[in-house]
Amino acid sequence: MKNIRDLYLEEIENDLLEIGEKKYRAKQIFAWLFRGVDSFDEMTDLSKELIIKLKEIYYIKNLEIANFVESKDGTIKYLMRLNDGNCIESVKMKYKYGNCACVSNQVGCKMGCNFCASAKIGFVRSLTPGEIVSQILEIEKQSGEKISNVVFMGIGEPLDNYDNVLKAINLINNPKGLNIGARHISISTCGLVPKIKQLADENELQCNLCISLHSSRDEVRTSMMPINKKYSIKEVIDACKYYIEKTNRRITFEYALVDGVNDSYEDAMHLAKLLKGMLCHVNLIPINKIKDGIYEKSSTDKILAFRDALNSKGIVATVRRELGSDISAACGQLVRQTKEE
Ligand code: SAH
Repeated sequence: MKNIRDLYLEEIENDLLEIGEKKYRAKQIFAWLFRGVDSFDEMTDLSKELIIKLKEIYYIKNLEIANFVESKDGTIKYLMRLNDGNCIESVKMKYKYGNCACVSNQVGCKMGCNFCASAKIGFVRSLTPGEIVSQILEIEKQSGEKISNVVFMGIGEPLDNYDNVLKAINLINNPKGLNIGARHISISTCGLVPKIKQLADENELQCNLCISLHSSRDEVRTSMMPINKKYSIKEVIDACKYYIEKTNRRITFEYALVDGVNDSYEDAMHLAKLLKGMLCHVNLIPINKIKDGIYEKSSTDKILAFRDALNSKGIVATVRRELGSDISAACGQLVRQTKEE
């Protein structure tokens, strides 16, 4: 049986032709899927016979909300249970411009960043496109609100699940799918250089790219992110320059400020020098404490001073609002827990 949520409209059309059905039925089915139905029986404009045939080749539901908690700032963190029993987390945030869904793309993560809770739990498997898209559909159903922005900043490394993430983005972006503009979709990566270049070469894809940089010095970045041993800062920056050249799109550099580690005035100047002349933006994140974490958050004064220092050198920098930290839904706090935990 296939997970129908993993499929493009064209793939469903081909399947229908194969079972001797009319191609146009696929459009009706596809539309129902993105209205969030869980069963073919809800597709009221299909014949009983077709529904029986569809049930023989496809299933629809691939995850469910096992639990959710709401923060005092309105952020909601969801525990989603996949069909195989594995659990992931997704987050809904309210912004002035609309609702943003932060989705997971893997059960666990291989990257091992030492400040991130998702890394502590080990890697189990990648999510399929349907499992990624369904997180958004479930959030919309539970909250009764539309999602207007999607960030791949939940559990997992999106560029380590490249094909499925790209397919999910296409389904999210598709006017007949979730119809969310590519400019309202952001991927965040720890810096998988070959995949950044591959993404640059995907001509039609206009989504935003965010790079978790966190330091402009190799020894510091390596101490925080093991991936830096494989791809140095220079290699990441060169891949970013290639991306900007190919796409003419601005890159966001994420920089989590850690007290005494990467937050000095000299660090800001060093970073400004590294990014000089690039079409980019720096998003400063006050680091969130995780269980058994070794890092402390920089003081607000230091964070603002870091921002001002970057701005004074012509590097646009803003401080990310901390949403959902009271419910462990903030950056780096998502884990592959089970309901019992
Ligand atoms: N794997 C992707 C997406 C992960 S999370 C990536 O590495 O980019 C999204 C952002 O939150 C990343 O920039 C990540 O580095 C950051 N982050 C992780 N743990 C954090 C923490 N404890 N405090 C603040 N930001 C954190």
